[in-house]
This record gives sequence, C-alpha cells and structure tokens, in this order.
Amino acid sequence: MKKYNFDNPVHCARYVARYPHSMVGGRVNTDGSVTFPSYENILITEDGEYLCSDCVRKNYKEIISDTKYDYGTQCAALSVVSESELENQRCSHCYKQIGYQEEED
Ligand SMILES: [Zn+2]
Repeated sequence: MKKYNFDNPVHCARYVARYPHSMVGGRVNTDGSVTFPSYENILITEDGEYLCSDCVRKNYKEIISDTKYDYGTQCAALSVVSESELENQRCSHCYKQIGYQEEED
C-alpha cells in the first residue's frame, strides 16, 4: 500500500477513492484508534459535509482540482473519517445514510 499523509487533503480524497472500505484486519487511524472492516471510508469536505466513497469516486476529478486549486466549489477535501465514527449523517451529494442511524419514532 502506498503511503498516505492524512494531513494532506489530496491524499485523503485519493485514499477514499482507492479504499472505499476499511481494510481487512482494521486500519490504524491517525488518532491511534482502529477502524474495522465493513465500514465505509467517508471524505469530509472543507464545508464540513460528508461525501460517501461512491460520490468521491464519481466526482474524483472535481474533488482533486477543487482541493488543489481552491476553486471555491463545495467539494474540496479536508479529511477522512470512518463511517463507524459517525451517527445520523448523510452524504451531502447522494443523501445516502452514513454511520449509525437512530430509529425515528
Ligand atoms: Zn454519496
């Protein structure tokens, strides 16, 4: 596996596009926690929105150019988070549910 620097937003976008799901055996995150398999890797944008890995793949070129050149559109990458750390979120692009969902009454 190539080395990814998770402080670099471009690397974060690349990582999510390349590894939509956490790897078998778990991945050690930058904060020392471990992400286990079957959770999706989610991209956090500069606006604080979440993008699922499908949308990152579909919009990869825009995301990379927005991130590198700061075009001011809404898909500049900031960081990566595992779905396992999120609750009641949706992808800002396709509105797919992300993370643990609380049942609605
Ligand atoms: Zn999506």
